[in-house]
Amino acid sequence: MKKTVAFRFALAMFLGCALASCTREEPKPVAPQPATRSQPAGVPAAPAAKSYYCPMHADVVSDKPGACPTCGMPLAERK
Ligand SMILES: [Zn+2]
Repeated sequence: MKKTVAFRFALAMFLGCALASCTREEPKPVAPQPATRSQPAGVPAAPAAKSYYCPMHADVVSDKPGACPTCGMPLAERK
């Protein structure tokens, strides 16, 4: 009687071990590859800021085209 229980226990252990070894899955370390790694190199920077000036008023300088606030003349692009 006792022997049977021991045998069963051993059998269960053996089966458990076999099953465990059979179904054991290797944990695959999934290293997430950074997909957003491409950084556009050589992106042209913003073009050099142009300056605009009033032909009649040298002190009127703007960084964008427009009209002179003093005389209303369109600002000329400084080259
Ligand atoms: Zn002006």
